[in-house]
Amino acid sequence: MDLLKQAIREKGNVLSENVLKVDTFLNHQIDTKLMGDVGKEFARLFKSAGITKVLTIESSGIAPSFMAATELDVPLIFARKKKSLTMTDNVYSSQVYSFTKQETNEITVSKDFLKAGDQVLIIDDFLANGQAALGLIDIVHQANAHVSGLGIVIEKSFQDGRKRLEKCGIRVESLARVKSLENGNVTFVDDFVSINL
Ligand code: 5GP
Repeated sequence: MDLLKQAIREKGNVLSENVLKVDTFLNHQIDTKLMGDVGKEFARLFKSAGITKVLTIESSGIAPSFMAATELDVPLIFARKKKSLTMTDNVYSSQVYSFTKQETNEITVSKDFLKAGDQVLIIDDFLANGQAALGLIDIVHQANAHVSGLGIVIEKSFQDGRKRLEKCGIRVESLARVKSLENGNVTFVDDFVSINL
């Protein structure tokens, strides 16, 4: 997605060789038009996959998932990182190690919203080592539902997430694939594709 790559280039802030900050359009302030387009692109990619639910994780996964679920005309569920007081024990849960916070969180989803036989599209903002995605996949499997694919806004392709998930047979669709954050610069996997005529 060219508009997304342009936003990353122009507004992204490379914090280190491993961490990209995109607070101006995704992780704090939200560019609703861009996130709408991101969601539409996920819906286009997965329109033939028979999706019945979109699942993400609070809070940064919600904005890019919203339009995907709207376009696919299915409910959007977000996993909670902190148990709400109104939540009973009727939940699926999994342990997720957070790449950016360097702590383990228990994520939960109410059993009321994920059902056996659901075809689930999982969406998240970033893919690094795949921990968040694996936690969400674990929850889908606890519900005896099926993971139809994973939609990622920004994949850091120099980390292991994609490899790990593809090994589990998961279809991974990333809208921007970052090849490197070296020297404070963002380069994308497809920046260097040469065309042989
Ligand atoms: P993973 O679970 O794949 O190791 O990491 C993905 C999760 O960590 C995402 O949900 C995202 O919130 C966070 N994350 C990982 N890398 C980055 C990054 O470079 N920038 C930001 N803003 N978040 C990241």
